[in-house]
Amino acid sequence: MDYLMPTRVIMGEGCVRANSACFSRLGKRALVVTGRSSARTTGALSDVLAACEQEGIEAFLYEEVTSNPDVACCYAGAALARSMQVDFIVAVGGGSPMDAAKAIALLACQDVPEDYFFTWSYTEKALPLIAVPTTAGTGSEVTPYAIITDRREERKTSIASPAVFPKIAFLDAAYIAFMPRELTIHTAIDALSHAVEGMLTSKTSPLSDALALEAIARVGPQLKRLAADEKPDREALLYGSMVAGMVIAQAGTALVHAMGYPLTYHRNIDHGRANGLILGAWFRLMADVEPGIVAAILRAAGLPDITAFETLLNGLLGEREPLTADEITRYSELPLKLAKIKKYRVMPTAEEIAALYRESCPEK
Ligand code: NAP
Ligand code: FE
Repeated sequence: MDYLMPTRVIMGEGCVRANSACFSRLGKRALVVTGRSSARTTGALSDVLAACEQEGIEAFLYEEVTSNPDVACCYAGAALARSMQVDFIVAVGGGSPMDAAKAIALLACQDVPEDYFFTWSYTEKALPLIAVPTTAGTGSEVTPYAIITDRREERKTSIASPAVFPKIAFLDAAYIAFMPRELTIHTAIDALSHAVEGMLTSKTSPLSDALALEAIARVGPQLKRLAADEKPDREALLYGSMVAGMVIAQAGTALVHAMGYPLTYHRNIDHGRANGLILGAWFRLMADVEPGIVAAILRAAGLPDITAFETLLNGLLGEREPLTADEITRYSELPLKLAKIKKYRVMPTAEEIAALYRESCPEK
């Protein structure tokens, strides 16, 4: 086993302002990386700026990160980090700003030609990073991955380095209090998918499995509440998604994420929703391969059987996006090209992937 989790997690209402001293240990100049509006509307940005002010830290803003950030966005942020000579980075937002911030942290310290962004052997040199999530799904606040859009290859893919594990993650459920229902559902499904996939890669360990079951036990009941149109426990979602992030930091994700990326890139389907579309059919397939693990997952989620798992997802997802036969053929080749495929327990063929897409989405 090889376990690394260097991120300090501080959770609780008002935790950013209450722990401003943690910021000053990282330096005197910070680049705050956010999306276009949610960092402001959630109050997370004003808490971060107040913490900086309290500690006499000069804060510069990079508010240009869109969903599924691309390489250009990361280089633009890194140019700002360099020109402002910042000592550290604070990421405020969902997975997209957190992932862009990780790439910025690397690019601010390492000279990487843009053509080599995805293939570069990144060293340990990066600006230290603080992560303040405003969604409850990606767990990026505790992972060493940045998922970035590769426009040249027309795909989403990842870079990874232990250097981009955030130094600190601040989890305040107040920031996710007003997430729209759809975003809450999609991000919670992402978290569930991390925990479930993370138990079914070849890099699992007893520790990552224990974390996965903990995450499933926290997130599962909230998904049931959401399906019943009841208010979820936001703290449980934020905590559960962070724990699921700790799972993939060790074990990685599996075929569901690899099949979800083309749906996001080519069909603009939210990351968590794209995973949700695939998750049920893939989970049923895994029941034949790893019945013991699948049974443990169902128990942790409080679901009697796979049909209940699929019914829950169906209720949450509603009408599914149809795919053409041509789309299915094109998308089915793509997961096989990702490096993460080496972590799969069962190596699928393009035909098997196509069959999963057909089961997951109606044909157009
Ligand atoms: P996101 O792309 O960060 O944000 C989606 C939308 O939600 C944006 O419009 C954002 O607005 C808005 N939003 C954020 N917080 C909100 C809040 N509290 N209330 C209302 N709206 C809010 O979504 P995400 O699902 O968190 O992240 C998805 C990305 O993370 C994908 O690129 C995925 O591949 C990646 N990911 C990374 C990892 C990892 O380990 N690194 C793991 C899984 C997924 P603004 O634009 O205004 O902020
Ligand atoms: Fe994900």
